[in-house]
This record gives sequence, C-alpha cells and structure tokens, in this order.
Amino acid sequence: MGRGHSRDAYTIDTLHVGTMVIDGIESPVHAWLVRGRDTTILVDVGMPEADLVQKRWATECLLGGPQPMIDALGREGVSPSEIDTVVLTHLHFDHAWNIDLFAGARFVLQRAELLHAVDPVPTQRGSYSRDINAKIVGMRRPSELLLIDGDHDLADGLMLVATPGHTPGQMGLIVQTTRGRAGLSSDAGEHYANWYPADPRASDHPTRALADSFMPPKMLSEAIVPTLQAMSRFRSRCDIVVPSHDPRVPRHMPDQWWELPVADTLSHDREDSPAVLEA
Ligand SMILES: [Zn+2]
Repeated sequence: MGRGHSRDAYTIDTLHVGTMVIDGIESPVHAWLVRGRDTTILVDVGMPEADLVQKRWATECLLGGPQPMIDALGREGVSPSEIDTVVLTHLHFDHAWNIDLFAGARFVLQRAELLHAVDPVPTQRGSYSRDINAKIVGMRRPSELLLIDGDHDLADGLMLVATPGHTPGQMGLIVQTTRGRAGLSSDAGEHYANWYPADPRASDHPTRALADSFMPPKMLSEAIVPTLQAMSRFRSRCDIVVPSHDPRVPRHMPDQWWELPVADTLSHDREDSPAVLEA
C-alpha cells in the first residue's frame, strides 16, 4: 500500500461511546469518525443511557446515551451537526440508538437490515427497538435515507461491504488511508479473536484447527457457512480489520496501525496504546 493515495485517503478516529458488562467482562461500544475529501462520516451512533439498558435489556451497563457520543466527537473537534453521512452497520440497539443527534445527516443502511429489524429472527427480538425502526421509517428519502442492497461505493476510497451473518443486513466500511485499507467490521466479528482465532495475540484460547478460518459471532441470524464466507470476503478486501467491541482497536488511524495488538496488551486498559505491529 502507500502508493500516493493521499487525495483519496481518509483518517479514522475510534469513539468510545458506551460500556456494557457481558458475562462479567467490560465490553466497549464504539463508533467511528471518518474524515477526508470534504466529508465527515460517522459509523454507528451508539447506545442508550446506562439506566435504560439495565432496565429494558437487563444488561449491566456503565456508560451510554448521547452524552458520551457528544463528548467523544468533541475530543476530535467535531460537533454532531457537522456529520454529513451516518453509516448504520446494523440496527441493534447498541449501534443505532442516538439517531436524533444527527438530524442533518443522511443515513445509509442495508434494505435487508430494515426488513429484519421489523421482523427479526426470534433470538434477536430483544436486540432491536421499535423506537429505532420508527425513526428510520420516518425519514424522507433520498435526502435523509439511502437504503442499499449489497456492496456500495460510498465515495472513492470508501467501500461499504455487505457481511450478512450476525444479522441479514450487517455491513462494514472499508476506508482507504495513507497506510492502507482499514476495515471497520462492526459485528461481522466483534473481537480480534473472531478474525484471528488461531493467533495467541488475538485469543486467550488460540485454536490451531481454525488457522486460515474465522470464528463466527455468537449471535447469528444466518447459517454459519455463508457467515464465514462473508467474513472471508471482508477480510480479503482490507489490510487491517477493526472489530467493533474489542478494547484494543487503534484509536487514531492511520497514525496507529496494527493488524493485531501485541500479546502483552491482551487485558490492558483500553486507553493504553499497544505497540505498533509492523505487518
Ligand atoms: Zn454490537
């Protein structure tokens, strides 16, 4: 990579906008700010307030709601009104809650995801929200809402890639930076262990039998084989994968750039920056 892509290159900032506690382990919720070529894009809009998550979803929650999003954007010098495009990777409540903050933006999501949000597989009924669905359906096309079917070039250097598996309309955004292509995978694989299950840097329990393969997400609407195929397709199109709920993701890309965090950062505080791993 690095063949003079600067004109079509973007920067990416990871926004920490929520924290849930799942099986006793803190699970961060992230969104991503993508900037370049006179556009300011947000990937996912974060989750509800902590007390609402505890009440409605019976999930321990330490951080959530619009304020962490506003604060995280503010740390990057951006106000919500400056976001022109919002990519919703899927419509689960921890990714699509704070839609109201971005009234001036155009929202982009898969048509298949909207249909599934209205009538999900039974195991995911609790992960969607009628409030979110109503807000999406209430948008006026096409200035506020772009529904897409499969892969879609958002702009030069910005490719939306459909990765059905976690949900039917799950998608990721592959972003061209000066160092290479970063794949914001969302929950197509929410941890490094999903993408590199045989690597001891990625997983506390590396499984050699899974070398050159993937560990599908725990929550699935699709069958495992198509899910693995979608993950493979996504992985082959980017230079690094940035998973949604792993605390070790790079904070500022391309300044920070690692395919995998180094081993001794496995359980460290999320504000620590792992050493850059040279590919
Ligand atoms: Zn999620």
